[in-house]
Amino acid sequence: MSEIRRHYFLNEYSIIAKERKSRPTDFRRVVDKEISEVHPCYFCPDNEYKTPPATAVYMRDGNILRDGDGEKDRVKDWVARCFPNKFPALTPEPPPPLCMKWRKLGCMDGYGYHEIIIESPRHIRGFAQFTEEEITLAMKVYKDRVSHYLSDPKIKYVSLFKNCGKSAGASLYHTHTQLIALPIMPPKIEAEERCMKGECPMCDILKNESEDRIIDENEYFMILSPYCARFPFETWIIPKRHVKDILSLTEEELTELGLAILRFMRAMNKALGDFPYNLVFYQHPLSDHYHMSTRIFPKLSTPAGFELNTDIFINVMPPEDACPYVKRFLDKN
Ligand SMILES: [Zn+2]
Ligand SMILES: [Zn+2]
Repeated sequence: MSEIRRHYFLNEYSIIAKERKSRPTDFRRVVDKEISEVHPCYFCPDNEYKTPPATAVYMRDGNILRDGDGEKDRVKDWVARCFPNKFPALTPEPPPPLCMKWRKLGCMDGYGYHEIIIESPRHIRGFAQFTEEEITLAMKVYKDRVSHYLSDPKIKYVSLFKNCGKSAGASLYHTHTQLIALPIMPPKIEAEERCMKGECPMCDILKNESEDRIIDENEYFMILSPYCARFPFETWIIPKRHVKDILSLTEEELTELGLAILRFMRAMNKALGDFPYNLVFYQHPLSDHYHMSTRIFPKLSTPAGFELNTDIFINVMPPEDACPYVKRFLDKN
């Protein structure tokens, strides 16, 4: 029978539709052909001039440089590069203010930053194809860039996310992560933070989660199929130490987070093929109550009318079935 499950700590529900249950292999996907054959790729080496000038270019020797403005002034031989999105959602110089009428309704200037982070010069699709060296660098770059944007006093939150695959919102095949720095705190993060005051529910999950839903763990992180998963194969990676954000992780923890993501994504790739996904960092740099996590939402189902109407999601893959299936594909080391 189906079950209605309340979120671990939010006032949010999902329906685990056991009656409509699918087999794990029904979710296997093949690479997004539509976006895999874009030539030349804007994100590949030698095409740097096709993107806006990079504001941070990571070199093999550890140096961090900047591009010049001219098309010929782009830094070559990089290992990662960060540049403003050509079509930004927010900009540091937003257009003139709107009339007072709309301001009274809560409309504000579209101030902020929208950045693209290319974590590897190789024309690869996503984390499953990364080397250990590449994922370690990616984590370092994420930390640097979040820290950079939070130093702007007008910025309240930095959303860091990876869309991989066309149906997950990516328009280009080459691996990349996006960062949107906002002048407001997202209500969802605020709501989670409120629930974390007092006894931390994430620390509680770490202590009490059922073996049935623990996919993997190491000294610093636990990877689980959450009880209240809204989507098939939804996965949370939770640091075992109560830390609020990526900036609070030690260098060792940051490296281990990268390796945990890599190990999990390689297993998922074996289990589901080139599945589309969103990988999102949930953090709250302004509150010590908050317990950060990295959440992976494979894009294997399409929210429709019911979900829009109720904000309740029907998940046809019970997390207790997703977990053992993915576990089978973890490297045995
Ligand atoms: Zn490329
Ligand atoms: Zn905690």
